[in-house]
Amino acid sequence: MNANIAARFRQVFESNLDKVCLLRPGLADWTYQDLLFAMGQYANALNSLGVEPGDRVMVQVEKTPEAIALYLGCLQIGGVYVPVNTAYTLDEVAYFVSDADPKVLVSSTDVNLGPSNMILDSDGSGSLAVLAKSQSTNGVVASLKGEELAAILYTSGTTGRSKGAMLSHDNLSSNAETLVNYWSWQDNDILIHALPIYHVHGLFVASHCVFLTGTTMLFFPKFEAGAIIQHIKQATVLMGVPTFYTRLLEYSEFDEQLTDHMRLFISGSAPLTEQTFLNFEEKTGHRILERYGMSETGMITSNPYDGDRLAGTVGYALPNVQVRITGDKGEVLKPELVGGIEVRGPNVFSGYWRMPEKTAQEFRSDGFFVTGDMGVMSSDGRVSIVGREKDLVISGGLNVYPKEVEILIDALEGVKESAVIGVPHPDFGEAVVVVIVGNSLIKLSELDAYLKDRLARFKQPKAIFHLNELPRNAMGKVQKNRLRELYASTFKAES
Ligand code: AMP
Repeated sequence: MNANIAARFRQVFESNLDKVCLLRPGLADWTYQDLLFAMGQYANALNSLGVEPGDRVMVQVEKTPEAIALYLGCLQIGGVYVPVNTAYTLDEVAYFVSDADPKVLVSSTDVNLGPSNMILDSDGSGSLAVLAKSQSTNGVVASLKGEELAAILYTSGTTGRSKGAMLSHDNLSSNAETLVNYWSWQDNDILIHALPIYHVHGLFVASHCVFLTGTTMLFFPKFEAGAIIQHIKQATVLMGVPTFYTRLLEYSEFDEQLTDHMRLFISGSAPLTEQTFLNFEEKTGHRILERYGMSETGMITSNPYDGDRLAGTVGYALPNVQVRITGDKGEVLKPELVGGIEVRGPNVFSGYWRMPEKTAQEFRSDGFFVTGDMGVMSSDGRVSIVGREKDLVISGGLNVYPKEVEILIDALEGVKESAVIGVPHPDFGEAVVVVIVGNSLIKLSELDAYLKDRLARFKQPKAIFHLNELPRNAMGKVQKNRLRELYASTFKAES
């Protein structure tokens, strides 16, 4: 059997030719026939540029239907798709080019970086689009084994060099199948797709659920709360990062009446605060389903579709995926103890591109991948994340898990959100510092009084800073490394 995931998608598309795949407010829709033909044309275009199975195709383009066809066409001929965040600068792309060594680079403008450079514009035009249009629509479908590479995703790499996570066709297929079943995908589902397509969330999780089932997506080039509100009545499912939900909640018209027809709201890629979960439920009657995953592994855990969706937890290991929590020496911990999250399963990547040593460091001998996230598992297997290992604060030799402190501070009147970080301190090594967003101009002495009976002394912040908003990346993740840089010299004067 051909394990090429694009071959599977093609079968689905062929059975749904007249159905709308990409519903585009204000623009022409794309049926499955349109997508099938365009995917064949992009496959042939890449072929004519010399792309063979295993060759990398690096892509830094805006979100268009043509970009989706390019992605699918690349997989179809066995090319390895390497999407790059549109925010990356020329220097950053130059690094990715030197690392991934692509046969073709597709970008919005001519960047002249070495490999054959083709253009695909934000309106779907450009030299690659012209070449594709001149091709026949069927295209070769490469026969592949499941372990062959489908994509390399560069991790956001806030420290050190960004690493390319190698994902196989089987990694992608197994995860997509699992999610379609776990989230009870329906034939008449219409997904709001407002996520970027250079990242695991928008490219794989959201798109694959649709492609595997021949359902429809409301295709937005980017997230705008107003546009979502205007069109939500056409949809049944929304997949978003937590920022989508906080933004939507700022609109008074976003309420029960507007959302009563919706089947499911899913959140991931960054922690959904308990406050947002509860506000959302209060305003709409829906309990957001939070799930957890990463570029290297696809989706790992999810709150249940039918069972209880709990705020502040990311749910249970998905079917066929194993999750365990380990201590410093790699020993498996008992329930309720905080440790590193490790994962094994058909979804887990094979390693980092051209980094065998880094790969070896992050896999245990029994095949578990060390995610770098810290969490805790309840006795019935429910996982809660307490933060990235590198965000852990060690003050006076004692571990402080930022989430534990943030939850308490977020509950204060007037606080919209908070970020707890560790900064250098002459006595303690690191000191806990909190950055608060919201109207609250709470003083340190007041915070001390509030936390006195709630948290051990060493976990309490030694300084407070106020910002209008926290720095975030495109996926809504708070960039704590930037906060650490900003406040690095807080305790310097005392040294
Ligand atoms: P990325 O590879 O860009 O998808 O980033 C993966 C990281 O995002 C994970 O290792 C987690 O640290 C974080 N993440 C993803 N989903 C969640 C979630 N539901 N709650 C908290 N953190 C999350």
